[in-house]
Amino acid sequence: MLPWGYAFGGILRLVIAIGTLILYFEKTRTDLSNREFQYKLLTENAIDVIYYYRLPPEATIEYVSPSALLVTGYAPEEYYADNNLIFKLIHPDDKSLLDDFINNLPCSLETPLTLRLFRKDKATLWVEQKCVPIHNEKGQLVALEGIIRDITQRKKLEQMASTFDRMNMVGSMAATVAHEIRNPMTTVRGYLQVLGRKEKYQPDKEKFTLMIEEIDRANNIIREYLSLSHEKLVSLKKCSLNYIIEALFPLIQADANSSKVYASLNLSDIPELLLDENEVRQLLLNLVRNGIEAMPTGGNLVIRTFRGDNKIVLSISDQGSGIPLHILDHLGTPFFTTKDTGTGLGLPICYQIAHRHNASIKIDTSTTGTTFFVYFSPPVL
Ligand code: ADP
Ligand code: MG
Repeated sequence: MLPWGYAFGGILRLVIAIGTLILYFEKTRTDLSNREFQYKLLTENAIDVIYYYRLPPEATIEYVSPSALLVTGYAPEEYYADNNLIFKLIHPDDKSLLDDFINNLPCSLETPLTLRLFRKDKATLWVEQKCVPIHNEKGQLVALEGIIRDITQRKKLEQMASTFDRMNMVGSMAATVAHEIRNPMTTVRGYLQVLGRKEKYQPDKEKFTLMIEEIDRANNIIREYLSLSHEKLVSLKKCSLNYIIEALFPLIQADANSSKVYASLNLSDIPELLLDENEVRQLLLNLVRNGIEAMPTGGNLVIRTFRGDNKIVLSISDQGSGIPLHILDHLGTPFFTTKDTGTGLGLPICYQIAHRHNASIKIDTSTTGTTFFVYFSPPVL
């Protein structure tokens, strides 16, 4: 009986031990799978794009989180189907940044890489990517695991801040040097006028006229410079935007007709707005001029006013060939121009005027034309 008793006791203890072990492993397995589930949930719901990229020679994208669809417009399946898709999205000007990054691995991993991507809808996106190296048992770098964050909004704010900084600088520069330059120029212009009238200079009359025109052009640039000054005070008064446009229209028409452009108005019934009449005139003329200049072989220019999105909108549409993406990014930067005789000050002035009116400017452009929208807030009743 006794040996059986020992044997039974032994088996019982063994069963209990195995049971405990099974329970322990099962609990650890559930804990692990719970944790894995939580991590998976975190990656699957992350706003940033999380990826796992196996490096060449077996280059493959092993994982991209679903947020890729939201950020870039392409779903993870599209990345899995084409391992080079992400590289095709990189802005041509930023390709060298990625090449540097890859050629200097693993040192380059220490600093985040900031570059531009094209979304599926062709919009430009600023992203910042950070990653960690994954090594195999032999210590070789085999993969990268990282995140890609959409920093477009941050970049836009930074660009706006630097544009305003530059404009303020330009403004104060202008205020100090403008008079110094203008005074001697007025003297030169005056003498040119007087000498140009003299009998002996009549054969060179055209040259005199040209010199005077050039001085006037320089003076215009200085005047535009001055209006960039940030200290300028606006006097906002309740007035009719339609009225300002109608009053300017004959001038616009004359300007347009001399460039074979047909200008038309399409004004809706809109409430009065708080405006600085002179500034709105300048804004309108600058945008109209750009529209006319965008159609060197003629076309239609339409000025509209309408209500939309709780705003009062002024729009100027042309039938030019549109603004390419690489130029769109620079619009509003003082002195940025693609024209031989452009000043690059028209749009910065428009942005400043809009800013002083609490209005915003949006651009819709394609190869068949461009529309500039100025969104004014209706006055609070
Ligand atoms: P400027 O007219 O003196 O060049 P702007 O600041 O008015 O300076 O415009 C800057 C640049 O923006 C222009 O040189 C042009 O390339 C582009 N641009 C502005 N408006 C238009 C438009 N309606 N269509 C095409 N390009 C435009
Ligand atoms: Mg212009």
